[in-house]
Amino acid sequence: MTYDLSPRPLNPAFKTPPIIWPNGAKSALFIGFDVDAETAWIGNNPSNVDRMVTTSHGGYDARVGITKILQLMEELALKATFFVPGWTALAHPAVCEPILKAGHEIGHHGYLHKMPDREKMDESFEEIDRGFEALEKALGVRPIGYRAPSGENFPELLAYLAKAGIRYSSSFRDDILPYRHQLADGKPGVVEIPVNFAFDDWNFGMSSRTSPRALFGREAVLPLWVDEFEATHAWGGVTTLVLHPQVSGRPMRWHILRDFLRHVQAKGDVWIATGAEITEHFEQLERDMGA
Ligand SMILES: [Zn+2]
Repeated sequence: MTYDLSPRPLNPAFKTPPIIWPNGAKSALFIGFDVDAETAWIGNNPSNVDRMVTTSHGGYDARVGITKILQLMEELALKATFFVPGWTALAHPAVCEPILKAGHEIGHHGYLHKMPDREKMDESFEEIDRGFEALEKALGVRPIGYRAPSGENFPELLAYLAKAGIRYSSSFRDDILPYRHQLADGKPGVVEIPVNFAFDDWNFGMSSRTSPRALFGREAVLPLWVDEFEATHAWGGVTTLVLHPQVSGRPMRWHILRDFLRHVQAKGDVWIATGAEITEHFEQLERDMGA
């Protein structure tokens, strides 16, 4: 493998078009859950598979987390996007089916949550194929949205996603508005709904024996989320959440998330939409502009 380190924009995506949100909304909120379950612990570290306590962090998803998150969405009458690794759907169909039944969107999140790696290109493509197959088999869905497991991507994978029928990605960290990727050959790629790392609950609420981190409670997380949301709202951007039932489905964190979502809902001028809805809207704006 050789590396092209010549100076150039490393993401050659098209310029972000002017975005007008529907219904006079000033900004958008995209609630995304990554339903990693045990794959978060075995995808990049297969030797963990027989470490039952380590993988039980992820086991929380199926036993408690997903159900609690669905209850919260129902209570607040919200629709979200659940990015489900294929392995999770096959291992836990009984808890994944209610996600679909409740009318939420299912997105692609790899098969075994392996981080996309250009040096393992075939394996990275296989993760996409197997993810599609598993979601089809377990839930009968063909997702149009993709969030990269462990948040990585590379040019050939972006092209592969577009070819496979993916219409949007939600992994990049380089904008506050949706934009369209440009592939290495200059052709249009998928829409990007960028994420904001400040809204990744893993940063504040996950600690384990193998990856010990500081945990942060309400007094740290809620003001940070509210401040970042308010500033993004003032700039007319999209606030993209990167949440995990094994983190935000925990009792105290569930309440932090609930209070944050109620704060957003109380604004009254925020368009709360799934990834598919935001993508539809973006594509309509492109058509209106004659792109
Ligand atoms: Zn994940």
